[in-house]
Amino acid sequence: MATPTIPHITILGSLNTDLVAYVPHHPLPGETLTATSFLTSPGGKGSNQAVACAKLSRPRSLTSPSAHVSMVGAVGSDPNGTLLLTNLTSHGVDPSLVSTLPGTKTGIAMIVVEAETGQNRIIISGEANHQVDESFLTKGNWLEKTDMLIMQLEIPMGTVLKAVEEAKKRGVDVLLNPAPAKKLPGSVYEGLKHLVVNETEAAILGDVDEEELDTLEGLERVGEKFGGMGVENFIATLGGRGVYYLTKDGKKGLVEAERGVKVVDTTGAGDTFVGRYALDAAAARKEGKEFDIEGAVKKANKAAAVTVQREGAAASIPWRDEVE
Ligand code: ATP
Repeated sequence: MATPTIPHITILGSLNTDLVAYVPHHPLPGETLTATSFLTSPGGKGSNQAVACAKLSRPRSLTSPSAHVSMVGAVGSDPNGTLLLTNLTSHGVDPSLVSTLPGTKTGIAMIVVEAETGQNRIIISGEANHQVDESFLTKGNWLEKTDMLIMQLEIPMGTVLKAVEEAKKRGVDVLLNPAPAKKLPGSVYEGLKHLVVNETEAAILGDVDEEELDTLEGLERVGEKFGGMGVENFIATLGGRGVYYLTKDGKKGLVEAERGVKVVDTTGAGDTFVGRYALDAAAARKEGKEFDIEGAVKKANKAAAVTVQREGAAASIPWRDEVE
């Protein structure tokens, strides 16, 4: 149950079943490869970020959460959908606003991970996620109870844009992680308290070459571009380089990635970052305190470094007592 003292974070987004193959190298055109191992696991950016918020809000015992976390989305009426709902519940996410759609399949992500580098390549088939339309915004009046809304772009764009608009009307903070990267209408940025992008997303949405992000000056220019359009807090995750942040009131910096990290699988690293960052941002808002963005970025950077050292998505995200 939500209490008046802890923030309520809602994630509106995708739920997918991840089919993950670990390979010696990414296949070339026409090449057939034998995987060294294979696993099926719960995934989808929405579901992963919900699980990240929940796991990082409490110890493994599921006691004393620092946030109430709920998920809004859709799965199909198949065994994969049931497993995804169980995955949410077992990590402390409230799944009551995830619809099970009859005659529809649950979303699938085919992920190929290169053993040497831990780099992934992903193909998504959205299925039930495609049916998350504007009607999902009014179910159970969830926006009225939400302090922070987190979204990605694995559900229809129209739903995301409408959600930003509705959240803004109600004074709900919005964190957008625009993945997979798609250009957005300029008006959306005014509704964003937090924009969290990786390098590809920063380049596509910011309309710059990725090389622009190689220097601090370039990162600042891109951050200022988003700030000029209305984003209050711009955060760029830079993989093994760490994280850059720039706020509208002039706070900025590069937090270097944790050292001595042996990358096994980067899947879920960005989602872990978003989850840990969001917990601090939502708590500051709920308590009416100034948001310590540097502190939030540092904690999130540390949590994401744990995720890259483990296989899978939801399973690789640490519980709070594993990082703090
Ligand atoms: P994904 O989509 O695979 O989840 P992403 O592209 O959204 O990831 P990245 O920028 O690759 O996100 O990584 C997110 C964060 O994970 C980084 O900002 C950093 O904090 C951490 N991280 C990633 N790679 C490394 C690494 N090699 N060493 C330490 N930390 C890392």
